[in-house]
Amino acid sequence: MDYAINELERQVLNKSRELVEQKIKPLRAEMDAKEQFSTQMLEEYRKAGMFGLWIAKEYGGHGGGITCLAMAFEELSRGCAGLALTPGTSALGAIPMYLAATPQQRQRWCPDLASGKKLWAFALTEAEAGSDATALKTTAIKDGDFYVVNGTKHFISTGKEADFYTVAVNTNPSRGARGISLLVIEKGTPGFTFGKKEEKMGIRSNPTYELIFENVRVPKENLLGGEGRGLLYVQETLDYSRPGVAAQAVGIAQGALDVTIPYLRTRKQFGQPLITFQALGHQVAELAAKTEAGRALVYNLTHRMDEEFLPAVQNAIANNTTIHDELKKLKATRWTKYSAEAKLFCSNVAMEVADECVTLCGGIAYMRDFPLEKYMRDAKVTQIYEGTVHIQKNEILTALIKEYAANATPAGSSPVRKPGTLEELLRGYFQETSPSVRPVEKNLSQAPVIVAGGRGVGSKEGFELLQKLADRLGGVVGGTRPAAENGWISVHDEIGVTGQTVHPKLYIACGISGQTHHTAGISGNPILVAINKDPQAPIMQKADYAVEGDLYEVIPALLEKLK
Ligand SMILES: Cc1cc2nc3c(=O)[nH]c(=O)nc-3n(C[C@H](O)[C@H](O)[C@H](O)COP(=O)(O)OP(=O)(O)OC[C@H]3O[C@@H](n4cnc5c(N)ncnc54)[C@H](O)[C@@H]3O)c2cc1C
Repeated sequence: MDYAINELERQVLNKSRELVEQKIKPLRAEMDAKEQFSTQMLEEYRKAGMFGLWIAKEYGGHGGGITCLAMAFEELSRGCAGLALTPGTSALGAIPMYLAATPQQRQRWCPDLASGKKLWAFALTEAEAGSDATALKTTAIKDGDFYVVNGTKHFISTGKEADFYTVAVNTNPSRGARGISLLVIEKGTPGFTFGKKEEKMGIRSNPTYELIFENVRVPKENLLGGEGRGLLYVQETLDYSRPGVAAQAVGIAQGALDVTIPYLRTRKQFGQPLITFQALGHQVAELAAKTEAGRALVYNLTHRMDEEFLPAVQNAIANNTTIHDELKKLKATRWTKYSAEAKLFCSNVAMEVADECVTLCGGIAYMRDFPLEKYMRDAKVTQIYEGTVHIQKNEILTALIKEYAANATPAGSSPVRKPGTLEELLRGYFQETSPSVRPVEKNLSQAPVIVAGGRGVGSKEGFELLQKLADRLGGVVGGTRPAAENGWISVHDEIGVTGQTVHPKLYIACGISGQTHHTAGISGNPILVAINKDPQAPIMQKADYAVEGDLYEVIPALLEKLK
């Protein structure tokens, strides 16, 4: 089914189909065999305007949104998933820039991005940081007006061919994941070289490279959106880009069916066309239905995304702000769960369809001359890049636990919120629990007051301070997964998806960013106090009392007041 709902989307479909029939199909087998990037297709994409589909007209783009991007990616991947990656990965590399860039940065980078004069790529993965991107080791240390970058990225798509690389670096390693930032690094910058070129199973015409940074001096103007905000933009980027991978997977599945069905109609065995054997025909019907379900999932999602994304782009241009900020103002939906669902479902469908199609067609499908085995090889990567199937399941599960935890509060049982100042609130708990009745046994899951610490506490000693506050309020101390991993608290005191679920009346979060995998462990809608240096930390937006400041100053001051 055709899901184009406006003229631009229809044009995108038609143009992409034309490119597939006239340019991609004659070229794909050769580029795959030679494992070679196609400069011819790069030119064709430029002429066809494929790089600027989702970029605002003000920067020379077509003003379409995520739907246009996904439609093009689906159709081009129906021809060849490898050749489709030239505009696909340029978009992936540029989405974080587009979201986080200041108006000046947009003006500087978007026109050449939209025309395809400059290609972009996205460099997050490292040898020790794959599914766990927070483990990345590449550093970018400030030196005057520059960042000095050192480290190595691997498995980077369109490597060596791209001009700009959006690179995840750590600008403040002592802060761990909270020090991750995004820098735009231009090819040709001294010290930036390319290492190993990977030899791959599929998408072979798209080069996958190692990037090496040795004392690369990057101007501070190339920082996207402020230090320490990298993970936020990475997540937001993946929310918008994963439907693209899902669309690519649908294209691969459709491409495999397009080869299989005509073959089954003409190939005869036992005197009849293979498709008339009902066992085979039914299998084809089932594969086609799954492919269509995937397509519906993708475009239902991208059309909903565009309802927020396109106005945010226009507001950012009108108000001289960032698109990220305008999305926030619009209270835009967090798409993480839906994007993960689309990618998980469609990538599994692509793999199943391609695999089954090879079985349905028999021996011929195993041969390189027949354009089917390539779909099976290409399909596999959609289950791996931009987060493996397991990581998509983790995202979905985390969101579900959070949704159900939030809904789990029985009506009428929520505490009276914000009885007054924070001091009045805490004094209430202080008076309620005289020293003689304070709990001796630590029972985290039943404790009415929990003082929890995260990465921001910074040391085991810091937890002694949290313990003092907990003692004063008749509470107990818990913490986040990183706090447990660092040995600052016992693993039994971890709260979150991988730890305990707690049901306090009062929850004091100290130095905790408020990632879903932690907050999913807090049930029952408690009064939430957050103490954090970073006013942008997600938990500060959710807190009933958001105290901006250093916990090593705030907690002693609170203890003083409670004397
Ligand atoms: C062809 C190709 C192109 C790529 N292009 C890019 C690119 O342009 N830019 C970029 O930054 N990266 C790119 N990548 C990297 C890609 O995103 C990673 O390979 C992917 O995120 C998985 O990381 P990993 O390979 O280190 O696997 P690992 O993280 O080592 O995972 C190995 C296995 O463990 C599972 N696993 C890991 N953690 C968990 C968990 N918590 N729960 C359950 N299961 C888990 C995984 O699902 C997987 O099955 C590319 C990869 C490939 C193959």
